[in-house]
Amino acid sequence: MLMPQDVPQSPFLLFDAENGMKMRDSYLDLRCSQCGKIDELAALGRGISEDIVFPKKMPDFFLSSEDISIVSSNMRGVLDALDKVKVRYFPFPSDSRFFVAFPDELIPVDKDNKAFRVEGGCCVECKRVRECVFGSELYPLRSDFVLGALLFERVTNVSPLWIGCENIVTSLKRAKLKGLEFHPYFKIA
Ligand SMILES: [Zn+2]
Repeated sequence: MLMPQDVPQSPFLLFDAENGMKMRDSYLDLRCSQCGKIDELAALGRGISEDIVFPKKMPDFFLSSEDISIVSSNMRGVLDALDKVKVRYFPFPSDSRFFVAFPDELIPVDKDNKAFRVEGGCCVECKRVRECVFGSELYPLRSDFVLGALLFERVTNVSPLWIGCENIVTSLKRAKLKGLEFHPYFKIA
């Protein structure tokens, strides 16, 4: 697992913290009328708010306040140079040093798979689960799996957990990126 650094006072991407934590206006029409979640990739594809600027010193891999992964241009350069690694990036219009990043290989929640522990059931409209965390088993990754993310869910949005194969981990370790920690993908129970 590729674990990002927890950064205090990281910005919210999708929500307006200045304004009672409402969904940002530009994404409002994407909300599910039942659970209020939005298609995060569609929202980010529209563009990230211009009011987000990061402090001078930030790690290379960290989370937004709603737990969405952000990488530095340095880490993007390392990932882009790796064979078979495919990542989708969303630029910050006011800070070219960072990108929201989602691996192309996304593993959605499957409530029948024991790799996921689902809480709160499924939304009747968009079918997304309310919350989802580690289950009792490991997700059966394909033998040719390279880099991807398990799409865990929080009450308000998706929360990707990056997983990389041994080769990727070795290359990323060598790059000595700040904030990036490595943990084995482990069983909880
Ligand atoms: Zn919904």
